Amino acid sequence: MSAGPYEIVDHAFDVVVVGAGGAGLRATLGMAEQGLKTACVTKVFPTRSHTVAAQGGIAASLSNMGEDNWQWHMYDTIKGSDWLGDNDAMEYLAREAPEAVYELEHYGVPFSRTEEGKIYQRPFGGHMQNFGGGPPVQRTCAAADRTGHAILHTLYGQSLRHKAEFFIEYFAIDLLMSEDGACEGILAWKLDDGTLHRFRAKMVVLATGGYGRTYFSATSAHTCTGDGNGMVARAGLPLQDMEFVQFHPTGVYGAGVLITEGARGEGGYLTNSEGERFMERYAPNAKDLASRDVVSRCMTLEIREGRGVGPRKDHIYLNLDHLDPAVLAERLPGISESAKVFAGVDLTREPIPVIPTAHYNMGGIPTNFHGEALNPSAEDPDRVVPGLMAVGEAGCASVHGANRLGSNSLIDLVVFGRAAAIRAGKVIDRDKEIPAANTEASDRIVARFDKMRHADGAMSTAMLRDRMQHAMQEDAAVFRTAETLQSGVSRMKQIWGDMSQIGVSDRSMIWNSDLVEALELENLMANAMATVVSAEARHESRGAHAREDFVDRDDKNWRKHTLAILNEKGDVTLSYRPVHVNPMTPHRDGGIDPAKIAPKKRVY
Ligand SMILES: Cc1cc2nc3c(=O)[nH]c(=O)nc-3n(C[C@H](O)[C@H](O)[C@H](O)COP(=O)(O)OP(=O)(O)OC[C@H]3O[C@@H](n4cnc5c(N)ncnc54)[C@H](O)[C@@H]3O)c2cc1C
Repeated sequence: MSAGPYEIVDHAFDVVVVGAGGAGLRATLGMAEQGLKTACVTKVFPTRSHTVAAQGGIAASLSNMGEDNWQWHMYDTIKGSDWLGDNDAMEYLAREAPEAVYELEHYGVPFSRTEEGKIYQRPFGGHMQNFGGGPPVQRTCAAADRTGHAILHTLYGQSLRHKAEFFIEYFAIDLLMSEDGACEGILAWKLDDGTLHRFRAKMVVLATGGYGRTYFSATSAHTCTGDGNGMVARAGLPLQDMEFVQFHPTGVYGAGVLITEGARGEGGYLTNSEGERFMERYAPNAKDLASRDVVSRCMTLEIREGRGVGPRKDHIYLNLDHLDPAVLAERLPGISESAKVFAGVDLTREPIPVIPTAHYNMGGIPTNFHGEALNPSAEDPDRVVPGLMAVGEAGCASVHGANRLGSNSLIDLVVFGRAAAIRAGKVIDRDKEIPAANTEASDRIVARFDKMRHADGAMSTAMLRDRMQHAMQEDAAVFRTAETLQSGVSRMKQIWGDMSQIGVSDRSMIWNSDLVEALELENLMANAMATVVSAEARHESRGAHAREDFVDRDDKNWRKHTLAILNEKGDVTLSYRPVHVNPMTPHRDGGIDPAKIAPKKRVY
């Protein structure tokens, strides 16, 4: 089949998973295990996905190091979300977590062990005993400080064992949508030989990860460009809660590289220019293990009030030099190396210079807790998009609400990757034909691709991207006001307009990284625009969204999810959908007591 000058290679599968990070691989494995004919399409080699960089660990109430239970985990997740998460999805996460971790153990993940041989668990920010009463609970399962690495390699091996087919270094361009709004597959570009591929499928699962690279200083890989979110936006479907962007307290000053929260879990603490452990002042109970948004704001305040460290007084110190070097070598070997390479410090002797850095996107493609993508309408806020699912950081189930707790993403990947596979096993009709080639949709996608390939404007991708990253960093970061956000919206509109003057200098189809980056920038732009417009409209402070002009959380008016729909001109239409306040299981059937999870002030 050809579309203009391009030949298209056709494939037919039951399921196409886009993305081979933790979420994509867990979904792929679960689909293949059930005998569904499954393709996994990925722009980078599976074990190079950003999940490989996850250090600290994966949360599950195994109680290996002291008392714990799923209700405490559910409560902490709700509180962490600042009461914006969906309670049914958060119950599902906390309940399924132990099972999902034991599965990983049996698949072969080499977890660190306790003396008795059980999975080792460390404390992490916001994870507490006794419904937030404290003290911190040891809930985060870890394979030293290379947990994501261990999980990714194991899941890739298992997926191959179950005969999932991998299409590696294929760049998914867009979704094939039918006239009546169902997803019927994707169109992708094979980077090493320049061919175009149409993957027709009964179910597409987007597992394309976050969009950290909309910001100038980010802990995420350069490949985290929110491509799946971009595809969804171009299909006219909404993105949810995009204003909630998590800043991690401890990115290495200058480089952005992450120092895991596990460092504070193992006893590390922050100090200002006076040598003061200032977190004790802001969060007397949890101290340095208060949740991330809280710690990031406190650090920013200390810097603003003139107590930052370094010649420009613009960062903070993370101290680990009081810990036993043997413990550091055993439990945190990776960050010892990062500190040396990226900050030039020996952490057994000196503190590490750190600064809050863009780290995680709570928002994304709205889904239910089965992983099915939603296209809410006024009559049905939970309307499902036929043929489309989203899992992992690209999705928004929503289990992280306004702020994600550390180690709750890795567990989200495997719990919802698995949930999507279970659901697909139920909703896919195995006897039904795989959708026929939708040539109209394919032609539209190819036309956009071709236009970008031949774009001959005066502005380079790098230049436009740099402007976007600075606009986001300066106007939509840790603290926000009407002034910064309005400036952010107008700067982003300007840059969106200037995208028409983009120039791509390489016209080839093979290993054209210039064109890849231009297509990624279009995706980043959709994410950035939805983020800044949604943030400007939300007149309250909640979780990671901290407004200096609306300092309090306003449950009466704002305990609701934002939905942002973009058009080609970059105009954003906002609407809202209710938070699911009912847990999955009613109290009388063994569910959590509703009184326990009623909204209250979030203090640590
Ligand atoms: C440095 C760092 C440390 C972290 N540490 C922890 C931790 O200790 N605990 C925790 O719970 N969370 C942690 N997180 C968060 C967590 O790791 C991520 O949220 C999670 O790994 C995202 O996984 P994912 O499967 O959704 O996406 P990713 O792992 O980002 O994978 C995305 C996949 O999509 C593919 N893809 C994207 N676009 C396209 C396209 N256009 N075509 C084809 N394929 C595409 C990519 O090839 C890749 O395979 C950390 C994050 C960072 C950045």
